[in-house]
Amino acid sequence: MNTPPCPQPEGAILHLGRHLRLDDNPLLASAAASRPRLLPVFALDPAVRRGTHQEAFLLAALADLQASLRQRGSDLLLLAEPPPAAVREVYDSPRRMIDEADLPFDPPAMPRTYTPFRQKVEAGGVRFSPPIAAPERLPPLPDGVVCPTIVVPALALVAAGGESAGREHWQRYRDRRLPDSYKQTRNELLGWDLSSKLSPWLAWGCLSPRRLAHDLARYEAEHGANEGTYWLWFELLWRDFFSLRGDHRASDAWSVDPADPRWLMLAGARLGHPLVDAGFRELNATGFLGNRMRQIAASFCCHELGWPWEIGAAYFAHQLIDHDPASNVGNWRDIAGQGADPRGGRRFDIEKQREMYDPAGAYVRFWQAR
Ligand SMILES: Cc1cc2nc3c(=O)[nH]c(=O)nc-3n(C[C@H](O)[C@H](O)[C@H](O)COP(=O)(O)OP(=O)(O)OC[C@H]3O[C@@H](n4cnc5c(N)ncnc54)[C@H](O)[C@@H]3O)c2cc1C
Repeated sequence: MNTPPCPQPEGAILHLGRHLRLDDNPLLASAAASRPRLLPVFALDPAVRRGTHQEAFLLAALADLQASLRQRGSDLLLLAEPPPAAVREVYDSPRRMIDEADLPFDPPAMPRTYTPFRQKVEAGGVRFSPPIAAPERLPPLPDGVVCPTIVVPALALVAAGGESAGREHWQRYRDRRLPDSYKQTRNELLGWDLSSKLSPWLAWGCLSPRRLAHDLARYEAEHGANEGTYWLWFELLWRDFFSLRGDHRASDAWSVDPADPRWLMLAGARLGHPLVDAGFRELNATGFLGNRMRQIAASFCCHELGWPWEIGAAYFAHQLIDHDPASNVGNWRDIAGQGADPRGGRRFDIEKQREMYDPAGAYVRFWQAR
């Protein structure tokens, strides 16, 4: 069953928010079927400060969507203003792999920690909700509306923004049979193919989590299910979990003073531990960081430096090309012990992590040299 479209203001305007794709986009499909004229818009709030990588990824995603919309008789207008309150949820909460209506429990019975949540989902036997196809044609724009062509900054990115690039990436990932080795490699620090790298496209809705899970099930039917394919689904379910738990409603837009010495330490990648500093060098240079390094960095900030989790979360929100409010806040709060995790926080022994994941110092040397 599909989730009902999020509420939109009346009329011809459709706020796309973090659903920057044609495929499996119920919001767009229902507007296309019901409105004689349609103006798809994205509110690019000038008050939101973004790192250069994140901004470039987002603009590339918007430009790619604009090109696809134009091919179907529509267009995309960027509004330099915050999204209206009525559609805030569309911007803050990307869609999930499993729709709320398909969960085997009522929302008030939603477990507050991941393992019981996953167990309930697995017991219910639902792995994903079925995706829907992209609309073939779209209604014309209202008379007289002209949408300027979106300009993309020339900046080399680790992942190209947009639905087209996301679909190519996912296809290549499966063609190379990388889901099979995912569980063994996902915690390694140095190398792009070690994990799926789907997060930037998921965060901005360039790829649909329902489509990914559907494709993954087809992949399993073709090549066989294994530990790797299961674990990829297991990790995608974490994303649903934080979103369902509503972590995006606790803001990671902590008001940042760029002159705050802690912000300067993060921006200068000078926190005082070689592994953590290498992580921030990677984040600052690329707008991306693997999950293991995010955990190490967050634990160091919260437990070794004793900073409120909001500082590091705000820095991640600014820098990450895959910034997703629910996943960011949920992970930071659980590591800090301020979330619903019953373990009262997760403090990582940083030296032990270095011995396990960078025993020969290759990761630290690689990022020290850049
Ligand atoms: C402190 C901290 C902050 C984080 N902030 C974000 C964020 O802003 N945006 C974001 O997408 N992820 C965030 N994560 C989760 C995770 O680190 C990234 O999703 C992952 O590293 C992205 O790389 P990947 O696509 O190769 O992941 P893979 O390992 O290939 O996992 C596949 C997908 O599963 C989901 N996923 C995996 N791990 C998690 C997790 N722990 N929580 C939620 N979803 C998960 C992601 O959508 C990911 O793309 C954060 C983790 C930590 C510890």
